[in-house]
Amino acid sequence: METQLDPSKDDLPLMANTSHMLMKHYVLDLDVDFKSQIIEGSIVLFFETGSSCRKVGSSVERACHPRSDETFKIQAFELCHIPVTNASACSSKTGYNDFAVCGKGEKDTSDKNGNHSNRAQASGISSSKKCCDIENHGSEDFLLVLDCCDLCVLKVEEVDVAAVPGIEKFTRSAKLTEGSEELGNLRNQIVHELVTLPADRWEEQLYYYTCCSQAPGCGELLFTTSTWSLEIRKAGIRIPRDFPRAIRICYKTKPEGRSVTWTTDQSGRPCVYTMGSPLNNRALFPCQEPPVAMSTWQATVRAATGFVVLMSGENSAEPIQLQEGIFSWNYYVTMPMPASTFTIAVGCWIEVKRESLATEVMTNDVISLPFSKADFRLVEGGCGHLESPCRFQNPGATSQPVIPHRVFAPWCLKDLCAEILLELIPQCLSAAHATLGTHPFSRLDVLIVPSNFSSLGMASPHIIFLSQSVLPGGSHLCGTRLCHEIAHAWFGLAIGARDWTEEWISEGFATHLEDVFWAAAQQLPCHEAREQQELKALLRWRRLRDEVQNSEEELQVLRPKKENTGETSESGASIIKHGLKAEKIFMQVHYLKGNFLLRSLARRIGEATYFTFLRKFVQKFHGQLILSQDFLYMLLEDIPEQKGYGLSVESIFQNWLDTSGIPKPLLEESRTWKEGRLAQQVTAEVAKWIQVNRRAKKGSKRKRGQDEVAFQKLLPDQLVLLLESLLEEKTLCPRTLQCLEKTYRLQEQDAEVRHRWCELVVKHKYAAGYSAVEKFLWEDQAMGVYLYGELMVNEDAKQQELAHKCFAAAREQMDMSSAKVVAEMLF
Ligand SMILES: [Zn+2]
Repeated sequence: METQLDPSKDDLPLMANTSHMLMKHYVLDLDVDFKSQIIEGSIVLFFETGSSCRKVGSSVERACHPRSDETFKIQAFELCHIPVTNASACSSKTGYNDFAVCGKGEKDTSDKNGNHSNRAQASGISSSKKCCDIENHGSEDFLLVLDCCDLCVLKVEEVDVAAVPGIEKFTRSAKLTEGSEELGNLRNQIVHELVTLPADRWEEQLYYYTCCSQAPGCGELLFTTSTWSLEIRKAGIRIPRDFPRAIRICYKTKPEGRSVTWTTDQSGRPCVYTMGSPLNNRALFPCQEPPVAMSTWQATVRAATGFVVLMSGENSAEPIQLQEGIFSWNYYVTMPMPASTFTIAVGCWIEVKRESLATEVMTNDVISLPFSKADFRLVEGGCGHLESPCRFQNPGATSQPVIPHRVFAPWCLKDLCAEILLELIPQCLSAAHATLGTHPFSRLDVLIVPSNFSSLGMASPHIIFLSQSVLPGGSHLCGTRLCHEIAHAWFGLAIGARDWTEEWISEGFATHLEDVFWAAAQQLPCHEAREQQELKALLRWRRLRDEVQNSEEELQVLRPKKENTGETSESGASIIKHGLKAEKIFMQVHYLKGNFLLRSLARRIGEATYFTFLRKFVQKFHGQLILSQDFLYMLLEDIPEQKGYGLSVESIFQNWLDTSGIPKPLLEESRTWKEGRLAQQVTAEVAKWIQVNRRAKKGSKRKRGQDEVAFQKLLPDQLVLLLESLLEEKTLCPRTLQCLEKTYRLQEQDAEVRHRWCELVVKHKYAAGYSAVEKFLWEDQAMGVYLYGELMVNEDAKQQELAHKCFAAAREQMDMSSAKVVAEMLF
């Protein structure tokens, strides 16, 4: 039954044994120190026993701990038996070693060894350990395994939740006795009662979580850290049922830890933020990474005056002054979500506000879609997710097209945000609501992140990060990206992938919905929306074709684990294959193929029918984790007429999800996209430019010839296609390029257009454009990675010098994946 897991260097292990113990809530209490670039504090974790322990009768213990029959013989609880760990000694140790043992000092070696073999057995993972040649000393203590890396763990202790005043009401059946074993049971019972409180008592629950998180410790627990995990055990406790369910971990992050980036914002002020690395948050706090560990959270974060703390929280926190120069920020969520979705950003950002009330009126515009009426129905027969307060059951929430939102940006981008972003957010939110109904989250912060952020945007609960690259050049890029991130509130956050290898569930849906939302936000008539979407499809098709030609086949499969998708080992641990591969981060195949699959389904079934279905799907699955088949089976079942469309789940797997390369059905569909009106217009313009170039090549005498050509005004996506088409030309002379730049004011266009312009400049060694390339590599770091490669490939000394110069300037700030990919290109 136990799958042997063997991570290679590019694989990402998820070590937490969620089948044994399942995290329900965590409380963070952190200090952010910019001088040392360290976040220090504690996390209190509240657990329930996992799925393998919730079976009835005697099978319970067997399932949790198959090797032990003596599990009922529990040793007496040794209250504060373990010497208190010296925090500073501990930190110096963990600061330099990945494998540190705390709690029992020297004497612990044999225990550690015992632990080690036990752990290897429990999780099935052994090869990623630094320390492997340890013999089994037969310890059969239960091990709680948490995902954790780059953290310095100082202390782990059990929390005495029974000491909280007023907590007795959760323990009516039991009473406090002096026996330590009963006391342990009592504490676990309190936590059980607390984590299972009904949704309508969420405020009381939050209050007691806070109280419990501040309760004193009642005994340190033994722990070991290794590359990917933190393992905790309590001497003599052999089954999860008896393991403490409230645990406090004191720890600090490391400046080089891979979950957060310490940098400066565009105005030169220090800031730190979670950058959405493949490691997620495990270098920010110890956690259970497998998405099945859906939990709620709350956090208190302290930072110096002048800093703003933004976070995934459903309240928009107001800072409280604690002492001279220190403010505290408090956030919480009541909707259980995977720990990977948690996001924090701390910096000297400014809240960008509307100047007049005039725009407020606009925000109340309700967008109605041509193909359907907005659906405000409440969920029939209740929700399918874990107990929590739910917006889908709240009439006020379901009919709210625009949720409250704020915009934060560095000082120097304040005006640009006010001009572009503030207008767009309500339009895009309203469009999303018209398409899908209820916003899953009650509020939204949008933050313009520092220039080293490695993508154009990232969505987390209650907060969206946007790259500064989306701001210049009109509303198109900013609007489409915002729509994409807003779509993630439904697909990616409220509905998540049960298996991370099915990234398409989040990205394919968001990409498909991005076009639909954006058309609605612009209030385009039907035929115009279709024209724009066809042009976009053509651009994506070209991108997919390129990527399929230039990437490893294995990375092109959307459901790489095929019929084993969603499976984990008995303990709940698993391996994300290629999860750490640097190139993978820059691949878009999941976005593109996923989008084309959904587009194709919507076309076959009919857009109106498809979106009616999608709303039903959201009603049913919000707050839950899904696999591809959950969506596909429900879709095909829901539409009986489909039998005529020749669709089956198996054929969709076969054609779209389980194979590399271009999906066959797409080959045919893509032929028509070139014929679209907007694409045809571009083709005509390209012909004119080729003509102009031909004349320019013949000499300067016929200079006037250029002026006679009347060029059409083009949309941003058309400009992208135009420049891409011109990139296919062998030679364009400097005069043509100069004219091209002037005609379309390319320097003032959005980053997608400027990116293509830079490629043209590089390809044709157009020296007058080098400053634009340099500017792009500095300001648009999320998009410039491959431009470095193009600068190197021409083997032109000037261009290579430019590449090295830009990389030298940006390298320090770049995130690790980007820096690694670029370094490989340059050296
Ligand atoms: Zn619900």
